Amino acid sequence: MQIRRTLLSLFVLMGATTVQAADEVVVYSSRIDELIKPVFDAYTAKTGVKVKFITDKEAPLMQRIKAEGSNATADLLLTVDAGNLWQAENMGILQPFDSAVIDANIPSQYRSSTDSWTGLSLRARTIAYSTDRVKPAELSTYEALAGKEWEGRLCLRTAKKVYNQSLTATLIETHGSEKTEEILKGWVNNLSTDVFSDDIAVLQAINAGQCDVGIVNTYYYGRLHKQDPSLAVKLFWPNQADRGVHVNLSGIGLTQHAPHPEAAKALVEWMTGPEAQAIFAGVNQEYPANPSVKPSEEVASWGTFKADTIPVEIAGKRQAEAIKLMDRAGWY
Ligand code: FE
Repeated sequence: MQIRRTLLSLFVLMGATTVQAADEVVVYSSRIDELIKPVFDAYTAKTGVKVKFITDKEAPLMQRIKAEGSNATADLLLTVDAGNLWQAENMGILQPFDSAVIDANIPSQYRSSTDSWTGLSLRARTIAYSTDRVKPAELSTYEALAGKEWEGRLCLRTAKKVYNQSLTATLIETHGSEKTEEILKGWVNNLSTDVFSDDIAVLQAINAGQCDVGIVNTYYYGRLHKQDPSLAVKLFWPNQADRGVHVNLSGIGLTQHAPHPEAAKALVEWMTGPEAQAIFAGVNQEYPANPSVKPSEEVASWGTFKADTIPVEIAGKRQAEAIKLMDRAGWY
């Protein structure tokens, strides 16, 4: 590892004069322009380093990095969910990049144990409830939503979405497969209607009275609430007496054949610092992954909570198991 890194640095030094100066970094991003451009613009203004990026869905981006191989154009892969980042790591398209700066800025549960990627912003996948038909005192845990009292009252997003696969992976990590399958069957049994294709639709269904509770990512609530401040839906923080709320992330990894690895690493280090964290988390109403940075006022208004401390890479490690269990439980 040390030898490889030294060789890499040498190569970059030798190449710098003849091949290409590292005055640019190329990012493949599954996050849309408006969520990333403000951060990259701030970096360019500060350092003069250009950040080029292309945006697409994560699967084609990962395939493209794989296909480009050693002719790589991308330095960094920016995407959401530890399940996706783990997938990328597993495909062999990322490389470890050790950094004392990143280690100090981002808690280890939000980084890859091999240093192939780091979280940049956090989102809780939590319970949303109707303020008309549910009292917060009736809510307690994710698991309790499998109980009889919620029959015909639950809305869920499709099991195809990685967010739900990651939540299920953490249930398996906590309870084992058998109990998790029971919980999932309880949820499916309690559904008021077919699963939805996105979290916004789940929130709208609760607001419209189609169901009373659901499970969503916090920033979708923020987005909808901004559009409609009279939304009769609130967020609840489950499992506060035990393991805490499931938190996932958006994150970034260094590609296996990054053409500008040192410049890329410098950008990621900066992105984990206070200035970038505030912008990056702020534009999508997320929580900064750097705990020294405060969330926006709007996000802070949802209240504080205890987060699950399971390292989020479990989402990837148990993804296949999670998909199998969800299928067995009839969650499609
Ligand atoms: Fe999302």
